[in-house]
Amino acid sequence: MKAQSTSSQTGATVAINAEQIEHILATHRRCDAVLVREVLAKAAEHKGLDARQVAALMSISDPELLHELFETARKVKQEIYGSRLVLFAPLYISNLCSNECLYCAFRAKSKGVKRRALTQEEIARETRILVEQGHKRILIVAGESYPREGLKYVLDAIETVYNTRSGRGEIRRVNVNLAPLSVDEFRQLKAANIGTYQLFQETYHRETYAQMHVAGPKKDYDWRISAMDRAMEAGIDDVGIGVLFGLFDWRFEVLAMMQHIAHLEAKFGVGPHTISVPRLEPAVDSVIASQPPHAVSDIDFRKIVAILRLAVPYTGIIMSTRETPNIRRESFALGVSQISAGSRTNPGGYSHDDNEGDESQFQLGDHRPLDEVVRDVAELGYIPSFCTACYRLGRTGQDFMDLAKPGDIKEHCDPNALSTFLEYLEDYASPATRAVGEKRIAEALQQMSASQVRTSEQLLKSVRIGERDVFV
Ligand code: SAM
Ligand code: SF4
Repeated sequence: MKAQSTSSQTGATVAINAEQIEHILATHRRCDAVLVREVLAKAAEHKGLDARQVAALMSISDPELLHELFETARKVKQEIYGSRLVLFAPLYISNLCSNECLYCAFRAKSKGVKRRALTQEEIARETRILVEQGHKRILIVAGESYPREGLKYVLDAIETVYNTRSGRGEIRRVNVNLAPLSVDEFRQLKAANIGTYQLFQETYHRETYAQMHVAGPKKDYDWRISAMDRAMEAGIDDVGIGVLFGLFDWRFEVLAMMQHIAHLEAKFGVGPHTISVPRLEPAVDSVIASQPPHAVSDIDFRKIVAILRLAVPYTGIIMSTRETPNIRRESFALGVSQISAGSRTNPGGYSHDDNEGDESQFQLGDHRPLDEVVRDVAELGYIPSFCTACYRLGRTGQDFMDLAKPGDIKEHCDPNALSTFLEYLEDYASPATRAVGEKRIAEALQQMSASQVRTSEQLLKSVRIGERDVFV
């Protein structure tokens, strides 16, 4: 197979070398325990892994080595991210779409969904509901076809979200998951103050990509894979990549993702801010979604999370409500650093609480409201965090990595996690969640360094006397 290469609008080259991936996979089908343990020892130093080392870990089937893989991932996760877990909610603004992605309920020919693009008033209403639940970050999601205004519809939606307040709350960071744009359009998105631009390649395997995307602009593999180059060229330095697991062999996808990351690091000095790990879920009018051609088992899914944690230790891993509470719980320890909670995947889903109405994109695995997720996460020993400080202080892209890599970011993140968690408890939590949360904060303070305790106590005091949005 030939190397898959392409140029973005401004000449940037992204190359997924399928031949090399297949060679590495073929030569690492079985790796001996000595090699695997060497790789795990290297991974424990937080230095990341190369493709061959990743392939060695992917070959693990022996239960003892698997246990060692998970233990190493747990340790690295704990050392870098501590017990914080960032929470967000998706906001679906439109399910209009001109593409035919065979796995998605929003595809153009799907008759099973009612088409809907929310008005700005409806977007404000949905935002108010999310604010009143206690959310501080949202991810705007839309199909690839906008109402008459075009991209301006999305830009207006972002402005609407930022301008909507309710009580003491507001959304402080808007991320977006939108079809690829030109450099000029990305500049407009940047000017609208987005946090992360997120886009999943779905599959890096060109032939599978062609089979899954049969009509519409998304057919163009090259335009999609070069989107992050254009976004970064336009000055968006927090980008989020992902694969839709289940479309092709997950091992190929993970190595291809490593190549994509290496490309961005070589060209821009910094890789993606986040990686998302969606697994294909059943969707209206989609046979593929109910019978994934390369279904990923729960155990392999955990392996993916653990290996990514070790391969790119400073890149956030996002898990959505596609997964069941049980899988989510297990994956937090292995490497997940952000989760969605209380989600609806139909435009208007928060106002019309019809759970999985016939406008939903796919079935959810976790139906619990935010309050329940927060309580569960805190009971499991994590600190639910609503922090948005880095982005608002300009600690993004390279600046974020410069702080994150020596571990200095913890001095900021842990105190900020506690103060935003306390805001949530004071303003939105049920009495049961509040009790669990207060106990969790007290325990967390006991595990912190003296300087972190000093900073945290100052922030917590400010929140208790009524100040909001305090961070370092
Ligand atoms: N329309 C844009 C696009 O396709 O990039 C952005 C929004 S799209 C709704 C967001 C993501 O939903 C897609 O990238 C895809 O990975 C995911 N998705 C679609 N169908 C899914 C399914 N059946 N199960 C899980 N995720 C799905
Ligand atoms: Fe449209 Fe995105 Fe769904 Fe494809 S995945 S049909 S582009 S909304």
